Amino acid sequence: MELKEYLRQRLEELVKLKAESLEERPVADYIISWAREKGFEVVEDNAGKIAGSNAGNVIVRRPPRGKDKWVMLCAHMDSVKLSGDVEYVFEGDVMKSTGKTILSADDRAGIAAIMYIFENADKLGIDVGLEGVFTIAEEIGLIGAKNLTEKLNSKVGFVLDSEADPGSIDVVAPYHDKFEAVFKGKASHAGVAPEEGKSAIVSAARAIAAVEWGRIDEETTCNVGTISGGEADNIVAPSCKVTGEARSRDEKKLMELMNRIENAFKSQECEVEWRHEREYDGYNHYGCELESVFKEAAQAVGVEFKWVPTGGGSDTNVFNARGVKTFNVGIAMKKPHTNEEYIDLSELAKSTEFLIEILKRI
Ligand SMILES: [Zn+2]
Repeated sequence: MELKEYLRQRLEELVKLKAESLEERPVADYIISWAREKGFEVVEDNAGKIAGSNAGNVIVRRPPRGKDKWVMLCAHMDSVKLSGDVEYVFEGDVMKSTGKTILSADDRAGIAAIMYIFENADKLGIDVGLEGVFTIAEEIGLIGAKNLTEKLNSKVGFVLDSEADPGSIDVVAPYHDKFEAVFKGKASHAGVAPEEGKSAIVSAARAIAAVEWGRIDEETTCNVGTISGGEADNIVAPSCKVTGEARSRDEKKLMELMNRIENAFKSQECEVEWRHEREYDGYNHYGCELESVFKEAAQAVGVEFKWVPTGGGSDTNVFNARGVKTFNVGIAMKKPHTNEEYIDLSELAKSTEFLIEILKRI
């Protein structure tokens, strides 16, 4: 079947499956029965049990043909929250949500493209082994990729989960930390004995005011996300919780920024219980030796190869940190996570062809 028509049929089936994060079972079953029907080895790992999902990550394999090399192809099975059944219309090749909820082309479009590549790999002259990794719970913190329990054969991989145009690959992504600070004050009657209390809210406010937030520089950002605390207007607030995040493409800058925030928070009158953790590691592919392969592949399908910097995280970050050199490939999905989500199937087909040309050369 012609590529674009294949993608259309698959996507129409895939977007009808309801699979919000931690409820990926319908998509997992769809992929597993497809893989069995086509004769590919398929396993489901234990990430679902660890993460509390009704499905694990699904790994599908098609062994190498003559070449001793495996390449991972990854897409996530979950979608963000739906506000109803997915409904779409076609305007030419553009498949778009009718506006009631998301389309969930993010990331079913990636799944459809990977299925096509698996089914047609022999015919297309792809000699490397293909390792399809379909993850759970990407949208709520890359949970499936972080908890992958299956050992992978691949040292290099491609994630199909970028909004960028055909021929584009994310080149650099930030390191991302999050923090939670609980200010411990002392309750007291606000009218009768305010001097006996210590306001956690006032300490939190001073701490927040002491930090510069927003864009710190071209590659570094931070944000106070939530604040909650206090009990009543007539009580000096005994507790106040502040949460937020910081990101930078430069790990050292991120560590310095987190230290600044921590110091500011710890220099207030109230004591603070401070916790911060790495959400995911960043990566940087500038100077990568595969650049010439990507350029040739783009030329072969008539698109321009572009490295694009990104400020977001994806499963790509997790696999790179695990030692699989992984690239997030543009599949031209537009306005993901909104009710205006759409995808042009001729663009998705171009992106798929670009990846096929890479796989033939890698
Ligand atoms: Zn996605």
